[in-house]
Amino acid sequence: MNIGFANDVGDDILMLDTANAPGGIMAYYADGDEEIIHANSYVIELCSCSTFEEFLEFTGGTFRGFVHESEIDQVEESIWMQVQERRGFDHVYYHVETKSGRLLSIDDYGRLIEREGERPVFYVFLAEVDRQEARDWLTGLPELPHFKHLVALEALGLHGDGEESVIVVFDLMGMKGYNATYGREGGDVLLRGFADVLRRHFNPDACCRHAGDRFFAFAPSDDIGSVIDSVFRDFAASGIEGVLPVMAGACMFYPGDDVSTVLDRARLACDSDNTTWKSHLTWFNEEMRTEAELRVYVLEHLDQAIANRWLRPYYQPIMRASTGDVCCEEALARWVDPNYGTLAPNLFIPVLERAGLLQKLDMHMVDCVIEDFATKREVGMPITAVSVNISLSDLGSVDIAHEIVRKMREADLPPGLLKVEFTESTATDNPEQLRSQIKILHEAGFSVWMDDFGSGFSSLNILGEFDFDLLKLDMELVRNIGNNRSQGIIAGIVEVTRKLGMGTLAEGVETPEQAKFLKAAGCGMLQGYLYAKPNSLDYILQRFNKGLNYRRESLSEFEYWNAIALFDIDSPISSSEDWSYDNGRVVEFPVAIIEHRGKDWNIVRANRAYDAFLVKTGGMPADAPESHVALTDDNADPDFLTSIERTLQSGTWERVAGQLEYGTGLQFFTKHIASTPGADAFVNASVSTMLGSALGVYGDVPIAYAVFRVVLNEAGDGLDDMEFVYANGEYCDYASVDQESLPGRRYLKSVGEGGRIWLPYCYRSAVLKEKVQESLFVHDRDEWIVFSTAPASVDGCCSFVFFATENHPKGMVDVL
Ligand code: C2E
Ligand code: CA
Ligand code: CA
Repeated sequence: MNIGFANDVGDDILMLDTANAPGGIMAYYADGDEEIIHANSYVIELCSCSTFEEFLEFTGGTFRGFVHESEIDQVEESIWMQVQERRGFDHVYYHVETKSGRLLSIDDYGRLIEREGERPVFYVFLAEVDRQEARDWLTGLPELPHFKHLVALEALGLHGDGEESVIVVFDLMGMKGYNATYGREGGDVLLRGFADVLRRHFNPDACCRHAGDRFFAFAPSDDIGSVIDSVFRDFAASGIEGVLPVMAGACMFYPGDDVSTVLDRARLACDSDNTTWKSHLTWFNEEMRTEAELRVYVLEHLDQAIANRWLRPYYQPIMRASTGDVCCEEALARWVDPNYGTLAPNLFIPVLERAGLLQKLDMHMVDCVIEDFATKREVGMPITAVSVNISLSDLGSVDIAHEIVRKMREADLPPGLLKVEFTESTATDNPEQLRSQIKILHEAGFSVWMDDFGSGFSSLNILGEFDFDLLKLDMELVRNIGNNRSQGIIAGIVEVTRKLGMGTLAEGVETPEQAKFLKAAGCGMLQGYLYAKPNSLDYILQRFNKGLNYRRESLSEFEYWNAIALFDIDSPISSSEDWSYDNGRVVEFPVAIIEHRGKDWNIVRANRAYDAFLVKTGGMPADAPESHVALTDDNADPDFLTSIERTLQSGTWERVAGQLEYGTGLQFFTKHIASTPGADAFVNASVSTMLGSALGVYGDVPIAYAVFRVVLNEAGDGLDDMEFVYANGEYCDYASVDQESLPGRRYLKSVGEGGRIWLPYCYRSAVLKEKVQESLFVHDRDEWIVFSTAPASVDGCCSFVFFATENHPKGMVDVL
């Protein structure tokens, strides 16, 4: 027998009598092309070669050429992983195709030798095995072929005894997330732990691990439910950190059944409910069988479905929270089949995804949406933006972002019309690809939305790491709005998102209560059955023709409302100036976004402080905060309008101080933030200086000044008394009252019955809304009082200003 060395390395091997070893011995460089250095006769004969040269020629002289090409990548990955974990040793199985075309199963024990100054070398002992003996290196459970073989044998035995049997598939839920958290090693511990549990409850030879985190078991069907329950219980109690829930699927195995088919059915059952986040068992049923058939049908008819437009978008409206108009529609795929009727995406999307065909669907959807834009235009329907769902699971195929950009350009449509939704899981599965796709879309002017936030292992970090324009709150979150914690979570997410300059959309809104809460939390858009289900374009057009549709936003309005939704009214200016209406404390800066539409001024968003401000200044009733003041060009404060004019010119903050007269001082801070044909939006902080610390303005002037709230007599035609709201230092000095505890104190009690002479004037101002300018001679003081009273901006209040003089101001004589 002719054995050989390709090079003159391999001293260690020379020392072995490799030629007569009871198995194959081979050495190859662990780097580069993995060039084979040595192979003994066993290996050479194994490949049906007769010389080392022939063997080298047959394998291309490399280990990669030795292993069956369909397995080489996986085998190498496994080798390197084990080498790292087990200090240089590995144990793998693979197939080798011989020169004569036979397929052999190989059991390979390898060892990596690294010596200084030399290239690393793998020394391998290998033997052809009966694959049915093969065991999984991680868990020691039989491998799939062995398992199948055993199942066939066991089943014969069981069925012979009249017992029925079952195949169970287990899947650890969230294994990907587990590996991300605990590392590969942690993941291995978990998998081994589960294998141990299986060994305890089933015949250890009738279990198997396959494809990472899937396990199979075969057992008598008797009492299988409680056996599986104890598997769940034991695993949960295994003490492994962060132990995961397990989903299981089971299918009866009858005499004559094919093992692979039953396995597939159990697998289907297992996968049918992957949303219940706790251990659970699902039995295979007839419905699943039909579904299984349907899946095959889908794969076989995809091209036909695209060509015939069986596959097409249904549209679900997305509502603008502030106006109730449709601001966008989500395109959701439907397969309207001539044989099966309308298929929902959960029937065909997973199948297409597994087959790597989802992109084909996504691109077809974009084509359809573009066609539908044209149809809508033809019938005169306003063109609203549409969002499409794009999957990035088919790695390495068409560059989706470029494809979308190209399609929209060719159709001559502005990028604002198409929003691209990527699901949150894309961010963990394909972060790099996602980042580059977002970049391409952004550069072309498209918005990118994150779908399903809150459905999986959501992390707020994702928001910082990817440049999304909007976040869709998953319906799971919305569904839980009933409880306080979820409310807090949603409010928090909305706030964080806004700080990051992103919009929010809540999906799955089904009740008015949910909508109300989401609006109040500041969520800008709402979508769900409360408004409409996804509908075909035909249906939408029919309703449009009957005038039954919701009002639709144009593209310009979309941008306009976005700007409004994104403005941070809680910190509109960076330096918080001490303008407050409430007793000298900066309680909260009252800020609102006000729009000018036609002649009307509408408050479209307001923070809490602004609402309180309006209540306080009489702008709106406290019990109906939704019904904002009806403000028009005709009754708006001229100073407010001045601030509007100025910011329209400057585009930045303008501050206009209203006249400080009659006790009402107003400061208007205003900034123009967005416009659309027919409307402009401004952010406005109107700060009243009448009540509270800003009265300090009057505090220092040498004119006595006070504000009173009147106390009507029973008939309502005059005053019994008044209450102090405010009085400045000058007033208090003059009237000898103590400024400290003044607010709320009765006037006559403080100044005596002589004060009655002022009540009629205050009545005229506070109740009849007159401005009064008079002078009175006060005998006991022997001087003239020149005064004015005026209505204050709060109902039932008047302001009072006066000074004293020895001479009658108009030179008239006292008539009294
Ligand atoms: P998704 O993107 O999260 O879409 C929202 C799903 O929730 C839609 O189901 C919609 O009909 C449903 N839905 C909307 N409002 C409510 C509600 O108030 N209550 C409830 N219970 N459900 C509501 P649909 O159309 O069956 O789509 C399911 C999923 O299929 C989508 O979830 C999306 O992930 C995927 N999908 C649909 N069309 C496409 C597509 O063209 N391409 C890709 N890649 N995926 C798609
Ligand atoms: Ca979506
Ligand atoms: Ca979603």
